[in-house]
Amino acid sequence: MPHQPAIVSGVEVTPLCDAVGPMGPSIRLPLAEMFPGAALRDDEPWILHFHCYLLRDRAGRLTLVDTGIGAADSPASSWAPVPGTLLGELAAAGVSPAEIGTVVLTHLHSDHASGAVSDGRPVFENARYVLQQAEFDAAGGPMLEQVLTPIKGQVHLVEGDAEVAPGVRVHLAPGHTPGHQIVRAGELAVTGDLVLHPVQLDDPAVRYVYDGDQEAAARTRADVLSGLRAEHAVLATAHFSEPFVRL
Ligand SMILES: [Zn+2]
Ligand SMILES: [Zn+2]
Repeated sequence: MPHQPAIVSGVEVTPLCDAVGPMGPSIRLPLAEMFPGAALRDDEPWILHFHCYLLRDRAGRLTLVDTGIGAADSPASSWAPVPGTLLGELAAAGVSPAEIGTVVLTHLHSDHASGAVSDGRPVFENARYVLQQAEFDAAGGPMLEQVLTPIKGQVHLVEGDAEVAPGVRVHLAPGHTPGHQIVRAGELAVTGDLVLHPVQLDDPAVRYVYDGDQEAAARTRADVLSGLRAEHAVLATAHFSEPFVRL
């Protein structure tokens, strides 16, 4: 387990480092093209971490945020380092998949949701899988066929803001995808792909080339980050090398 857990607002938050590596050549671009206009050096590769987060509340209830890149045959295999190591990370944290009561999928990109299934079956057999209605409606291609269809019987759809487990809320934060959501528990904010690179904390207007709607994403990023900054929230990020950032 490469990253240490943190206690935030009474919730134990364990970063689960599913993988570390650069994007594969099929979608890799120089950093200056990934984040147009940002002051980033172009001669260094972008080494992403792929983080999921395990939340354990005072009553021992377990919520998993995102499920990583999945098995060797996952839809992420065209560009991400597979297989993901989420289940090994969970085991290292002393947790079996059957103990997870709630899985929040921030969005249906292949590096966040593919680990929800293995061999065509849901990995987290006792969990509700929380998704925004808008994300569900926009699903297509391999993510629909290989991920969403097998978990359909366990999907719990929400619209906008909702409490999905005691003390755990989701908030719609669209732009990266139509139904992208973040997760809040007290001071904690698990941000999914609201921010991809630390440069966007300094300047939320910096676009990310793979945001589905770059303008909406930049607007959402600025709005949400200014709110989180005002409350000195603790961010738990998907792709930074250091999982936690206190604003
Ligand atoms: Zn990591
Ligand atoms: Zn994404």
